[in-house]
Amino acid sequence: MEISTCTIEDLIRLQRQGVSAEEITQAALGEIERRDSAIRAFIDVHAEAALAQARAVDEKRRRGEVLGPLAGIPIAIKDNLCRRGWRTTCSSRMLKDFRPPYTAHVIEKLEAADAVLMGTTNMDEFAMGSSTENSAFFPTRNPWDLERSPGGSSGGSAAAVAAGMVPAALGSDTGGSVRQPAAFCGIVGLKPSYGRVSRYGLVAFASSLDQVGPLGRSVADCACLLQVIAGHDPRDSTSVPRDVPSYLSELFNLKRPLTVGVPREHFAAGLDAEVELAVRQSIRILEQQGATIREISLPHTADAVAVYYLIATAEASSNLARYDGMHYGHRTPRRGGLIETYCRSREEGFGHEVKRRIMLGTFVLSSGYRDAYYVRALRVRRLIKEDFDRAFRECDVIMGPTTPTPAFRLGEKSSDPLAMYLSDVYTISANLAGIPAISLPCGWTRSGLPIGVQLQAPFFEEARLFAIAHALEQAFDRRRTKPAVNG
Ligand code: GLN
Repeated sequence: MEISTCTIEDLIRLQRQGVSAEEITQAALGEIERRDSAIRAFIDVHAEAALAQARAVDEKRRRGEVLGPLAGIPIAIKDNLCRRGWRTTCSSRMLKDFRPPYTAHVIEKLEAADAVLMGTTNMDEFAMGSSTENSAFFPTRNPWDLERSPGGSSGGSAAAVAAGMVPAALGSDTGGSVRQPAAFCGIVGLKPSYGRVSRYGLVAFASSLDQVGPLGRSVADCACLLQVIAGHDPRDSTSVPRDVPSYLSELFNLKRPLTVGVPREHFAAGLDAEVELAVRQSIRILEQQGATIREISLPHTADAVAVYYLIATAEASSNLARYDGMHYGHRTPRRGGLIETYCRSREEGFGHEVKRRIMLGTFVLSSGYRDAYYVRALRVRRLIKEDFDRAFRECDVIMGPTTPTPAFRLGEKSSDPLAMYLSDVYTISANLAGIPAISLPCGWTRSGLPIGVQLQAPFFEEARLFAIAHALEQAFDRRRTKPAVNG
């Protein structure tokens, strides 16, 4: 069975026509077997558990029981989401053998929806990076061009979906880690509003920015996944007790008239010409469908990267303090006193980028520098949020490129952290402001690399994002600008 191009919708239809969840899972495992030795999207594939889960779904169906909305759908999860009994490594030597004693809220939700969990995907260590090259184990390759990065930090999840190994996956997004790899791999990825999805069981990187988000082959599939994972969870005090709308039925409910804001700052120097062209064409499509296009300004865009790397590193230095070889994580085999054990365990367990961020974060929080860096960054964060508040008084949605360039080559930026940090210029602000943002494929470079367009909406307006993204996706399909996966 050719499952490698199926959406969740297709797979649900196939099951209605008599294909079993076990056959679908076998097909997904076959695809992983064939393709993952070259791509390396997965850290662990849990074939036995997946097949057992699929058989349980088939059994439920035979007994005539009500099935969950993701019944028999293979899903991969980023390796910073805990599942009891499995390893959760965060692609770090520090957690190489860590088996969490509990399961993340979003994983519980997937299991309750009868999804089939296939395994855990590679990422930049502790989600710090934009290429998966910071994984302590191996880099993941972009299915469109194996010499290129799939993006990061959820690069394994994005590559697994793009390569046809699973129809959908979960990632996490602190500064762009769902949207940037989605753009690089030619798939759809959503960062929900801060508080829309519980982070209970997500290994913390920067707690005021982290969100779990879906990656899929269609806007509808991302809507379907968000539907399952969204909602209040008392175990995450930042999760918001607001009802979850029916995202799938809102897909066709595009409110008109629509005003699309196009931020001047997102089309500035550094933007690749082919990316600009494809994004401008998508803006034209909405215009032809009757939307009003308005040039807007997000004046603090240029400050977002700096603000992010102060706040995210400050929070990371605090969150990662727990990995000391005593409470958590790798413990050095070299004998010594308590402080020596802490130091050696951290020295051995963390990779370069993580150490760089812990040092930066510790520095910006240290007395004497706190006000000059951290507190000032918090103030600018506020200004960035106010830029969005102002913009959304004039427009319903903000549209621009997801990334300044298509997928870059492995190794191209790994020795230049600043160049790597700049690949997040357009995605970071949504995390700082807490608003939802989606990336969907809008075209291809002449050399065949996918290009992503980003839509951003006001707080908790995911349904609006889905409706607009869906309208665009339909238009692309009709114009055949979206080739089949790996086409
Ligand atoms: N690339 C950004 C970073 O390195 C964002 C990562 C993320 O969203 N987890 O921090």
